[in-house]
Amino acid sequence: FVAGLEVLRDKPCITTDETRVSLWVNTGLMTDVARSLDRGAEGVGLYRTEVPFMIRERFPSEKEQQEIYREQLQAFAPFPVTMRTLDIGGDKALSYFPIKEDNPFLGWRGIRVTLDHPEIFLVQVRAMIKASLGLNNLRIMLPMVCNVAEVEEALHLIHRAHGEVVSEGMDVKLPPVGVMIEVPAAVYLVRDFARRVDFLSIGTNDLTQYLLAVDRNNPRVAELYHSFHPAVLAALGSIVRDAHAEGAAVSICGEMAGDPAAAVLLVAMGYDVLSMNATNLPRIKWVLRNISAQWARELLEKVVTMDNAFVIQSTMELEMRKAG
Ligand code: PEP
Ligand code: MG
Repeated sequence: FVAGLEVLRDKPCITTDETRVSLWVNTGLMTDVARSLDRGAEGVGLYRTEVPFMIRERFPSEKEQQEIYREQLQAFAPFPVTMRTLDIGGDKALSYFPIKEDNPFLGWRGIRVTLDHPEIFLVQVRAMIKASLGLNNLRIMLPMVCNVAEVEEALHLIHRAHGEVVSEGMDVKLPPVGVMIEVPAAVYLVRDFARRVDFLSIGTNDLTQYLLAVDRNNPRVAELYHSFHPAVLAALGSIVRDAHAEGAAVSICGEMAGDPAAAVLLVAMGYDVLSMNATNLPRIKWVLRNISAQWARELLEKVVTMDNAFVIQSTMELEMRKAG
């Protein structure tokens, strides 16, 4: 099925009734880059900066980080590259910065760590901004935000970092800044966030975990972890409505975007940027080029009346099969 999809590489992702969807990729290592471009990615929706930190034995210096980020930005230019600030804690550990907690997923992770250590944050943001010199395709994204104060504090630090880079003599623009919607509190704050930042992106991996109170890595409760859970679909519908009401761009960067049935529902909800693992991209493009947005909306209308994730999933599979 996937063989032969390479012919789609340079074709746009557009439904039969002309809804344009942008397919972006999630990256971490340089090895992801060539694969992503080969498959026709139009941007990076999530560059997990913790990956280069995880494969080292100490914090990379500002200069080292600048080089790492420059490679990513250069490889994708002029396409946008969304760099997430360090998202450690929870399931992502650095050997040289141990965090010991009883409830790591509810503890010190993501933006909480970097706001408590502004020196780590400032070095990283300065490195990103310096790396973008002359390319102007950098976007900065904040993980795990739960309240407006965190966003404001982070924005303040980003402005400061930018000011420092400019005062070092580099003529570089302040990049767009966005936040991840990945905890339930953020779902209710979409409009507040949207007024303060340039874009929003949904981390459906964590959002599903936190909405359903199901550890995303615990096999014992894996059956309960379901992105087609009616509560997850309701949250995703509400986020896109609230974001668009504020005129804000919103995309998806969790694994869900790379699942064909889920992608159909997301397009029906109004999401027009889906960021996924490069492996899934050609298949998603093929599916979206073969359906109409109208059909997707009718399907969404049908499944949102259902109260069970497994019934929703099997309905989607059946309808997708019927549609070919
Ligand atoms: C997510 O939570 O959906 C996400 C994209 O981030 P990560 O998987 O890196 O936590
Ligand atoms: Mg996450």
